[in-house]
Amino acid sequence: MSKIIASAAIRGAHKIVDNAESKWKQAMDKWGANEPVGFPNTAYYLPIIYGILGTKVEKLGDMEKVLKKSRAILPPLVKETHHLPYLAPALDAGMVTMFAEELIEAVRYLESPNFYTKTEDIKPDNIWLGAADDIILRKRGIEFVDGTAPGFAAILGAAPTKEIAARIAQELQQKNLYVFMCAEYNGKRFSEQLLEAGVQIGWPTRLVSFGPDVSAAVFAMGFATRAAMSFGGIEAGDFRKILIYNKDRVFAFALPMGYVTDEWYANAAGAINWGFPVIADTPIPEVLPTGICTYEHVVSNIPHEKLVAKAVEVRGLKVTVSEVPIPVAFGAAFEGERVRGEDIYLECGGGRTQMVEWVTSKPMNEVEDGKIEVIGPEVTDIKAGSRLPMAITVEVAGREMQEDYEPILERQIHHLINYAQGSMHIGQRDIAWIRINKQAVEKGFRLHHIGTILHAKLHHDFGRIFDKLQVKIYTDKDKVAQLVEQARAVYNKRDMRIEGMTDESVETYYSCTLCQSFAPSHVCVISPERTGLCGSYNWMDCKASFEINPTGPNQPVVKGQPIDAKLGQWKGVNDFVTRTSRGKIDHYNFYSLVNDPMTTCGCCEAIAAVLPLCNGVMTVNREYTGETPCGMKFTTLAGTIGGGLSTPGFVGHGKYNTTQRKFLAGDGGLLRMVWMPKMLKEELADKLKARAIELGVPDLLDKIADETIGVTEEAILPFLTEKGHPALTMDPILG
Ligand code: SF4
Ligand code: ZN
Repeated sequence: MSKIIASAAIRGAHKIVDNAESKWKQAMDKWGANEPVGFPNTAYYLPIIYGILGTKVEKLGDMEKVLKKSRAILPPLVKETHHLPYLAPALDAGMVTMFAEELIEAVRYLESPNFYTKTEDIKPDNIWLGAADDIILRKRGIEFVDGTAPGFAAILGAAPTKEIAARIAQELQQKNLYVFMCAEYNGKRFSEQLLEAGVQIGWPTRLVSFGPDVSAAVFAMGFATRAAMSFGGIEAGDFRKILIYNKDRVFAFALPMGYVTDEWYANAAGAINWGFPVIADTPIPEVLPTGICTYEHVVSNIPHEKLVAKAVEVRGLKVTVSEVPIPVAFGAAFEGERVRGEDIYLECGGGRTQMVEWVTSKPMNEVEDGKIEVIGPEVTDIKAGSRLPMAITVEVAGREMQEDYEPILERQIHHLINYAQGSMHIGQRDIAWIRINKQAVEKGFRLHHIGTILHAKLHHDFGRIFDKLQVKIYTDKDKVAQLVEQARAVYNKRDMRIEGMTDESVETYYSCTLCQSFAPSHVCVISPERTGLCGSYNWMDCKASFEINPTGPNQPVVKGQPIDAKLGQWKGVNDFVTRTSRGKIDHYNFYSLVNDPMTTCGCCEAIAAVLPLCNGVMTVNREYTGETPCGMKFTTLAGTIGGGLSTPGFVGHGKYNTTQRKFLAGDGGLLRMVWMPKMLKEELADKLKARAIELGVPDLLDKIADETIGVTEEAILPFLTEKGHPALTMDPILG
């Protein structure tokens, strides 16, 4: 290692340890040794110190040991006359820097508890997120393990201009990398530059503004250290394994942008311990391969337009960028991006207008591969902030294509549109909802690009089952209305295919984990009598999906021994859910919302809730935007319970599921239903009537209240009493 770098890193480490020591002493004077310290909501204490040294820092007093240890490891300042090998002392200095900075940040959490937002998103008055808590770690860290995100770039300082910052960030996002940002250069910070350039930052877009100071670099290294312990199963204190895990598995690198200070050198030396090379835009000395690293440690003086490419090359990252020829960036990193308020250029669906998406198969001669038509106004024909109705129809043909595959292709539309930068997509079928932002339109994004995306990606991922695909995008009101009707008839047919099958008649259910990118602990297990909560996937669809893609998101689940037949709980299912939720959820019931219901994600078509006063349940569909007797509107309910957890008293479900025989059977079934929006009653009327007759209460539908009767429990109770609703005489629901 270069003497210049080693001397600077060691000098930097000395300054940082001195600083940590003085901060600690002040804190000790103020709070005393017993004051609890730590990063928020984590079981990993100060994670680098815990992972590398195996030391738990829980109180201010515990820091003393770490400081002593740091002093012991810290190499002496390099003298002019020294001619020693520099690498080992510099790496030690780097490691000590990490310990010291963790102490500094921990003291900061004590002194100013609200210095960091402690959230996934930035806030209007604070953009510094601070250490990721364990929920974020689980949700995001798993992406490093399953390959959705190959690693991260730690950016220190700032780019020369906000435009360059935005370009570099986008390049990194397109390679599915996370960008961890800290430190300041020339009065500017990379995170702030991105904001100025109108880029959305925060965990959801993978642009993580950890903190304003260089010490926030420890949040990146701490994240990597916890990933090794959490996902690699490595014991705290086994520092060798933790460092090797990161070197082999996490493709990370540091990008110092701007003048490299002694403190930056010290942090860079820290990163090299984890196997993360340093790619600088300034002419600092280079450090070329040696024993521990097969690639360069420090590469310098790289022009900005080559920075990302160089980093990727040095770190040996193989990126599979899906080439989709559209004028905006495309990739999983853009899935979590939101489009709100002022930024909206176009909005379709979401209860404001009609929107439907439908995949259908056609004879070979009726499909021209790659043909994309927009029928009705394009974005160039409308003003910013407009709404349009929309129907997306995807017509496919091929010898291997079967009708059974249509729902599977259709369900992909959701994430594929979300992958485009500047687009947000929610829902499915006839309750789909899309927003496109102004920046995307400025960059040239048009509705026909939705077709381009679907053509390119469906071919790429499902080319085996069809040969040709064309897309029609309708924005004409009458035409959309007509397509909604047509598609609804098909959805109905698809739903009905499962009619007559019972849960008892099969030994195998199917999982769906498609939604884990948004709701990490969420696992749908789909049985014949419990269609997926998004309404898109029933048991047949999952079976077909497994046939097409045996390693995909729909896996067979052998249900195994029943644990509770009435509530719908099986040993095999529990084992599967435990595994695929990574231990977060270890059991749930298929047929109950009162007792440990199935997990819910944000896609649900409807949400059922207990109404204790009425001794019954209600359900509300996404399209109904008004108040409900449980005190929450659909959006509030979805926001509260849609994160992939099991929330007793509430459960998300498909609309069709309301009419399936096992619907809430463990809580008394459909006879418990005391309130539904009028529109949902009407939509499901025929099927509900048929079920009501089976249940021996043929006029049940007339006894179920809706918003015309009232939107509070108190308001509907007299109606239920007058009608003699069966729920009122059933066993107490919260028995
Ligand atoms: Fe799959 Fe469930 Fe998501 Fe539907 S809601 S896509 S069934 S995980
Ligand atoms: Zn979902």
